[in-house]
Amino acid sequence: MFHVKHAVNNFLTEVVNNMTDYISEEQIAMYLEHRKPDKKHYADVLSKAAEGKGLLIEETAVLLSPPDEETKHLLFNTAGKVKQQIYGTRIVLFAPLYLSNYCGNNCLYCGFRKDNKIIKRRKLNKEEALEEVKLLEKQGHKRLLLVTGEASGSGVEYLADLIGDIYALTDIRRVNINVAPLTVDEFRMVKEAGIGTYQLFQETYHQPSYKYYHPSGKKSDYQWRISAFDRAMEAGIDDIGMGVLFGLYNYKFEVLALCQHAEYLERKFGVGPHTVSVPRLKRAPGAEIQTTPWMVDDEELKIIVAVLRLALPYTGIILSTRESQQLRNELLGLGVSQISAGSSTSPGGYSSSGDNNVQFEVHDTRSLDEVVASLCKDGYIPSFCTACYRRHRTGEAFMSLAKVGDIKELCLPNALLTFKENLLDYASQETKKLGENLIGKELCLLKNEALVNELKSRFERMNRGERDLYF
Ligand code: SAM
Ligand code: SF4
Repeated sequence: MFHVKHAVNNFLTEVVNNMTDYISEEQIAMYLEHRKPDKKHYADVLSKAAEGKGLLIEETAVLLSPPDEETKHLLFNTAGKVKQQIYGTRIVLFAPLYLSNYCGNNCLYCGFRKDNKIIKRRKLNKEEALEEVKLLEKQGHKRLLLVTGEASGSGVEYLADLIGDIYALTDIRRVNINVAPLTVDEFRMVKEAGIGTYQLFQETYHQPSYKYYHPSGKKSDYQWRISAFDRAMEAGIDDIGMGVLFGLYNYKFEVLALCQHAEYLERKFGVGPHTVSVPRLKRAPGAEIQTTPWMVDDEELKIIVAVLRLALPYTGIILSTRESQQLRNELLGLGVSQISAGSSTSPGGYSSSGDNNVQFEVHDTRSLDEVVASLCKDGYIPSFCTACYRRHRTGEAFMSLAKVGDIKELCLPNALLTFKENLLDYASQETKKLGENLIGKELCLLKNEALVNELKSRFERMNRGERDLYF
């Protein structure tokens, strides 16, 4: 009897190990131990990275450890150039919408954790949620990210129903979600409701640390979380957003493990992540821990963004309002391509009835209009484009266009059209002036005369009241 039990246990352990054999802690440790690069080696890897075709994991490991300040600046320059080549000056904008702060988990770092008694719990009903959506719409947002805690009976029906109503009743054009891992059937439900990206952060890929930070609740199951994208892909969602909560463990380990995870998904499903997010641990009211020995400083975050830009050149990098205005501006130049703006991390936080039950502190509290104005001043084109998703250019279809550079031909005109719409409908006088100037300059830079004429004619149609024009 003992032998049978032992054999079954061994078998189960093997199954579990095999499920994540694409994250090899030993291999990562070896790369980080043995690849302390000299300047020559570093420069060689950097010149390969400059081609914008991505990197092997061992090359990514090299770039994470610039041997001196001068080399670090070369890394930043190279990442900036690759970003410019692939994304130009477009920056996509979105807002998170927190639906509920009920949670059955106890993530030590989070203000929504079950055992936190100092926040008031709230789940928005459909009407309240739609009221929040309308407020975001009034600011000019076209893309939303719905966020919830992980309560028992997670309410996938509620979510799917709400997504349907958002599309039907408001002018929001793309709804992404960041919710706890679902089953394949549940993923099918949200796919049918029309979600854009399914976003989920692994928090930490380091299993012992994962266990420590997630002591109880469904989320304590590392396997269930890391296999969420497999189930999402199985359900037909080919647009996924990965991420790590930086500050929980060694950031170099996390970047390499995330790249291994991305590589595994690309191998298995033919498509890697559409986006990667780079949240850093922030103070959270009532969280069990406010800081760790692994906190990532600003310079390290810059290295993370620059290296990810070079390792995964066709993957969007998302930065939230967890970071300050100044650091966000710097990170835009190193690889970030999407940012949230005018955000609240509390359910009901956009309406006057919103209280202050935040998940964590935000450090960029500017309104969307202020962010748009500041992007214009720095020469970035704010984009509210949702065309790829609506034209079904997602997953493999998107990647094949992106990798040959064709997507650029569509993105810039679409960005300009959505930006013009934003200026017409939502911008303050000052932002309008800055924006119209920027659009004028961009038209002068375009070499394709037919495209310039087409854009000008569409702008005219928009001046006469037409909306939602895209290629
Ligand atoms: N509850 C779901 C989950 O945990 O996946 C989805 C939403 S959760 C509200 C979104 C993300 O917030 C988490 O994945 C985590 O990375 C991040 N987060 C939690 N506490 C944080 C903190 N103190 N600072 C920064 N980000 C935090
Ligand atoms: Fe719940 Fe997500 Fe916060 Fe963990 S991070 S306590 S799962 S809301």
